[in-house]
Parts: sequence; C-alpha cells; structure tokens
Amino acid sequence: MAQSFGLRHNLSHPWPMMAAMNTPTPSAGRDDPLYPRARQLVLFRRDPGIATLQRTLRIGHQRATQLRDAMLGDILDHDEQEQRWRIADAAQDGPDLLVQNKLAKAAHWISAAQSMVIAAGAGMGIDSGLPDYRGDEGFWRAYPALARSRLRFESIASPQAFQERPATAWGFYGQRLQLYRAATPHAGFGLLHAWGQRMQQGCFVFTSNVDGHFQKAGFPAARIYECHGSIHRLQCTANCSGDIWFTADLRPQVDEAACEWLGELPACPRCGALARPNVLMFDDWHWNHARSQQQRALLDVWLDSAQTPLVIEIGAGRASPTVRNFTRRMQQRGSRLIRVNLHEANIHNLGDIELALGAREALEGIQQHRAALV
Ligand SMILES: [Zn+2]
Repeated sequence: MAQSFGLRHNLSHPWPMMAAMNTPTPSAGRDDPLYPRARQLVLFRRDPGIATLQRTLRIGHQRATQLRDAMLGDILDHDEQEQRWRIADAAQDGPDLLVQNKLAKAAHWISAAQSMVIAAGAGMGIDSGLPDYRGDEGFWRAYPALARSRLRFESIASPQAFQERPATAWGFYGQRLQLYRAATPHAGFGLLHAWGQRMQQGCFVFTSNVDGHFQKAGFPAARIYECHGSIHRLQCTANCSGDIWFTADLRPQVDEAACEWLGELPACPRCGALARPNVLMFDDWHWNHARSQQQRALLDVWLDSAQTPLVIEIGAGRASPTVRNFTRRMQQRGSRLIRVNLHEANIHNLGDIELALGAREALEGIQQHRAALV
C-alpha cells in the first residue's frame, strides 16, 4: 500500500501516473489555475525550463515542476534517453486557446469603444517589410556598408553625422526615404482605420515611426501625432527660418553598397545650408519640433473630447520609451490597454490584454473575431 503512494511522486512518468491515480491532486498540474498561462509561456518562449516558469509566474520550484510535468502529452514531449524536454511536434503551430480568448476579448473591447488611440512603435512597420533596427546586428544587416565601418544607428542618425560625414548621413536617410516610399503599409493599418471609422469619436494615432505609413494607409493628417517627426519633411541644419518643407521633389540617388549620397546634397532653399530630415535623431539639439508640436496640440484637443479612449499599443519596445510612457499616462487616466508586442508583452498580465504576436498577425486575428461578432 505504501508502494502505490510512492509511485505518485515518480516524476519520470508524471502525467500518465497522475492520470492513472484516482485520488486527485488539488491545484496541481492541469487543474492549477496557472496552467493555461504556464502553457502559453512555454509555447511563446519555446522554453520548457522550470526556472523560466518560476521566475515569470513567481511561483516555487515544486509548483513549476508540477505545471511543467502536466504539459507532457499536451504540448511537451520528454526524451527519456537524453533526459530533455521539448515542444511536441503537434503543438508547434496549433491554435492556442488563451491567445484566441484574448483576441476575442480585444474584438469585444474594440466593438464597444467610442474612441481609440493607436500608439505605434517600430514593430508596426516590420510586417510591411521595413528593417528592424533592434540591436547593432539587426541594423548592420540592413546596412552592410555601415557594418563595414562599424557605424551604429546612434552614430549615423545624429546631427553630428550630418556635420562630419554628410554624404554618408544622407546616403542612409536617402535609402530609408526610398524604402519607406516604396513599401506598402500592411493589412493591419487598413483594419485599424476601418475600426476607428466606426467609433463615435474616431481614432487618433500616436507614433514614434517616421515612415509616414499611417498617412499612406488613409488616416487623416489631422489625426496623427508623429512624436519623432517624419522622414518626408526636411529642415535646415542651420535652422535659419524655422521652415519645414515636404520632400516631394527630393529624388535620392544613393550608392547603396557604399551608403553614400550621389551628387549635390539637399540644401535649404532660403540660406543654402545643408538640409536634413525633420526627424528626431540621437543627441539632437537642432531638431525643429514645430510641426510635431502642432500635431501634439491637436491630439490634446481630441483627448479632451474623447476622455478615456481605448488604447491599442503596437510594437512599442521599452528601448524607445516615448510611446510606452504615453500609454502609461493614458492608463492612469482610466484607459483600457491592448498591447501587441512580439518580444516584450507581459503575457501573464491580468488587467489588460497583452498579445505576444506580430502586428499584422494580431490585428488580423482580432478582425476574425470581430467578423464572428456580427
Ligand atoms: Zn536655411
């Protein structure tokens, strides 16, 4: 009789043993209320380690072990010979219940909202084929010429670069301008626009992206705040007049292999000094923020009438905190938050909806649930 109880704690075959026992183990394994989140965590991180479960869910070793063991036969396999846990083949790309629940909840929130702020960072552009500048390696993959001279994003995107090596600085921005002009905003932009149009007070965009893709996707200019400016506008490096002008006539000729601007560099039509993109760079004391401030004023007026809009934050990482800080202020004012972030979602957060998905995948997922609501 003592023997049969001993078997229950034999962890080399935990799930089949537990299933075979008639005595249930309260709040252990699959009955544990944390099981869905633990399961989600393992799937997203691709990591069946006990330590990750303990740290992320803030639980003890025993509970984490029970949770992980309960995933055997669900989403995990255990390789007896190598003594290794791995994600089961069947679980690699199967539908995930918790994600579907969150997408459905997000669809409900959007349907019920009177107004919405779209707070977007770099992750929003990735699905339109724009490069990911996260980390030196990501940046240098997109700009091999800058990798050869070990020029980091922070070094080339700076007023100092326009002073010291203007042809390279313009080579970089000229290439980006061409890329942003050529790229088509992904389907997620159109979905957000359509959702906003159905809301009583509509929506407003708060974005740190300088690509101009919300305008391109049909959002009205008067409903967009570009907190870091726009690559489609220029200013004088000497700031002679405070003018900001449109780049419509600018036709970049760039030697991409060398990341060098070819021919005459863009100049200020008033004083002839070097022109530069009207975007906020690193260590930038010369950015002309007049246009951005006007947009901000429009946002403030809109916020007064919209009161507590739903906030949908997309692809805004902690590394560039402007968008996240705005989101936090909106939460303090009582706004609900839907956060979409492939790398930095807090997926076990209870109050808001946080989705560790790419922008397009999340928005299309929400749209599917909206269609089901109608
Ligand atoms: Zn000038």
